Amino acid sequence: MKVLLTILLSIGCFFSKAQEVVVLGTAQDGGFPHIGCQNDCLKAHKNVNRAKYVTSLALVDRNSKKWWLFEASPDMDRQLQYFRELTDGDYPYLPEGIFITHAHIGHYTGLMFLGREALGAQGVKVYSLPKMSDFIKSNGPWSQLVNLKNIVPITLTEDSAITVSDGVSVEVFAVPHRDEYSETAGFKVLSGDKGFLFIPDIDKWYKWDRDILEMVNDPMISYAFLDATFFDAGELPNRPMNEVPHPFVSETMALFDEEPTHLKRKIHFIHLNHTNPLLFDKRKRSEVLKKGYKIAEQGTTYD
Ligand SMILES: [Zn+2]
Ligand SMILES: [Zn+2]
Repeated sequence: MKVLLTILLSIGCFFSKAQEVVVLGTAQDGGFPHIGCQNDCLKAHKNVNRAKYVTSLALVDRNSKKWWLFEASPDMDRQLQYFRELTDGDYPYLPEGIFITHAHIGHYTGLMFLGREALGAQGVKVYSLPKMSDFIKSNGPWSQLVNLKNIVPITLTEDSAITVSDGVSVEVFAVPHRDEYSETAGFKVLSGDKGFLFIPDIDKWYKWDRDILEMVNDPMISYAFLDATFFDAGELPNRPMNEVPHPFVSETMALFDEEPTHLKRKIHFIHLNHTNPLLFDKRKRSEVLKKGYKIAEQGTTYD
């Protein structure tokens, strides 16, 4: 009985021993509620429980009592406090380092809180690919954070991994995206033989030289937090959607629908635009869940 219980408990576990990932936000860059949004955002304005922070994850190492933040979102000040509450204050207030995917506003502007006008932090490591790193070093106000040593940019090499803690590695790869100011990264985090993927922004799966199906199929991957900005075409009636390409949730599902359920269960949709019904439409949410997919939930710990 005990053996059976152990087996059952280990199924779906991502980090076998001491690591876990905490979802600190699930919204697209503009957050939810969203500026100018007068429809489904109104309920989120009135009821804070419906609101979502901008997409961000915390990687936690229970052994070393260290943690790493993925994305410095514009909600970072509140997310740091949120993390503290979710983990009962067991970890330092600031992460050991911050991994950043790219220079769109939802992914790096939270760095501003580390500067002289706010926290005045010292030496927070900020990991990113080379163009992102240069962008931070060469453009105010971010360069002031570097000059004052509030942050220390660390440049990652594409398609390579760094070890952040005993047995925990973070691999970085580039994905196609609207790269106006920086390239765009995705991350694969491994602890032993378990891990997760984090790809919050990508133009379309077919534009990528890697195969997302293969990557999710990797037995070492337990969770894949994937770009779910829009549910379907026609979601932005007043704007051409080809200006902001993303894999629609409907397209990602079409790609995986014929795959076995255990594969679909790994997919956790994240980075939801305020127009995406998965944020507010119960019927649409249960449609997706019934097919076997997951929707990343703010405040949930995946271990
Ligand atoms: Zn984004
Ligand atoms: Zn982006």
